[in-house]
Amino acid sequence: MPSENIKGRSSGFNPLNELSCQPNRFEEISLVAGDDDSRFFPDEDPTERKVETKFYIDTSKTILAKNDSPDIPFTYSLNPYRGCEHGCIYCYARPSHEYLGFSSGLDFETKIMVKENAPELLHKTFMKKSWVPQIIALSGNTDC
Ligand code: SF4
Repeated sequence: MPSENIKGRSSGFNPLNELSCQPNRFEEISLVAGDDDSRFFPDEDPTERKVETKFYIDTSKTILAKNDSPDIPFTYSLNPYRGCEHGCIYCYARPSHEYLGFSSGLDFETKIMVKENAPELLHKTFMKKSWVPQIIALSGNTDC
């Protein structure tokens, strides 16, 4: 069984691809465990298991996400990262990591997409003649 206690992490596993071997719903190709599932659950002391955080460059071309939901009091939001190392176990942003092919479990808090060009993209947006100054919600889907 996968570890449920990894030092410094909230989630002890990637629920879709480790526990149930269910494929990511957004992926067309998946790896299914056979009789030998040791590659999924290596023989190791769970309390010694350590998962380092990896940072990836996110090459998003725009920085603001727009919504037209009538029950959300802002139109634009900005997230400089995707994933969050704080890893709060209750975080509603976890499933959004599945859009990227990651899991909402351990991946969410250990594989962080960084929008390094966020300041430039925001500046470019503000300089558009069509931009109307208004409230922008920051980091609703990750920590600032
Ligand atoms: S985005 Fe907020 S709630 Fe979610 S893991 Fe990060 S700090 Fe916790």
